[in-house]
Amino acid sequence: MSMFQEEFVTSSASMRVRFGAGVRRAIGEEMETQGLSHALILATPQQAGTAQEIAELLGARACGTFTGAVMHTPVSISEEATEIALRLQADCVVAVGGGSTTGLGKAIALRTDLPQIVVPTTYAGSEATPILGQTEGGRKTTITTPRVQPEVVLYDAELVCSLPVGMTVTSALNAMAHAAEGLYARNRSPISTLMALEGLRAFRDALPRVLERPQDLKARGETLYGAWLCGTVLGQVGMALHHKLCHTLGGSFDLPHADTHAVILPHAISFNEAAVPDLLAPIADIFGVRTAGRALYDFAVATKAPIALRDIGMKETDIDRAADIATQTPYWNPRPIEREGLQRLLRAAWAGEAPSP
Ligand code: NAD
Repeated sequence: MSMFQEEFVTSSASMRVRFGAGVRRAIGEEMETQGLSHALILATPQQAGTAQEIAELLGARACGTFTGAVMHTPVSISEEATEIALRLQADCVVAVGGGSTTGLGKAIALRTDLPQIVVPTTYAGSEATPILGQTEGGRKTTITTPRVQPEVVLYDAELVCSLPVGMTVTSALNAMAHAAEGLYARNRSPISTLMALEGLRAFRDALPRVLERPQDLKARGETLYGAWLCGTVLGQVGMALHHKLCHTLGGSFDLPHADTHAVILPHAISFNEAAVPDLLAPIADIFGVRTAGRALYDFAVATKAPIALRDIGMKETDIDRAADIATQTPYWNPRPIEREGLQRLLRAAWAGEAPSP
């Protein structure tokens, strides 16, 4: 079926993407192409070894390394790293890691306009978006501006091989959520829809192979391809219930980011499927299951993803408060969100039940 729409608007960020196992070794060449010579390398403390490898690859092109990136991009850390970048006279940042490290690179770019080269090591997809989430005083705020859009992304399958199996699955489902919600976005285009469906197919095909053989470079490469496509969808179109609910749960109950996405995805999609069955039917087709919600639930079970909020730290008594918070600030969703429906959704997600059709 063609993805044609009678009317649409689409714009794509100007971003150079280079793909290939071992492609991080071309990072010096990439800096040269961009006319850059002084990189501040960013990573989490856990990935200091990978940052060190990048520093060695860059030699004199690396002016320093900052390995203090943490989850949710706290403003205090961004300010500290920005000061270091300015003091070292960096002319770019190289972020090597998942969404937390990419977020730090974006936060520095927001403050300095330094170009960013990102080497993603998870499937979260932040490298493909002009979106930055930051936290200050316990509050997370999100801004969208071309200023934080990375300029160069190097997708190196060798670097995702070290992602532990559990995180591989939750990070993949996090990426798939961008694609699934992209299918009903009000500002979707034929291009975003094509990318979303191809991204979902890539994960359907490659994730089970990665779980069988986590070091399979071809399968890892295919999942990274899925991550790029799904991340690009996130960068191009608006998200709805699934992403807002995960944001609420993560922020209010301190639930782990990728695990929360994994649990909520089938339920949010099933909830919206009642309103836009045609737009979500391609997911059911891709997985060969009757409904999109059920397809995503079965895929989560088959890949041994967490399927219950109660298993990732949420208390049953928090369900009502979560429903209250999530309905307090209204936002667009293809199906109106009422408290009772949301409570039912959260109750099923808390217990790990399959979403009801
Ligand atoms: P993460 O970056 O927080 O990484 C989690 C942990 O895994 C870290 O300790 C990290 O060092 C480690 N890790 C990462 N890759 C590894 C690898 N290959 N091998 C071994 N360990 C590895 O996790 P994430 O899920 O990628 O990112 C989550 C954050 O990104 C959240 O704050 C989320 O809000 C943000 N995010 C932002 C966007 C956006 O567009 N702005 C998109 C998606 C996610």
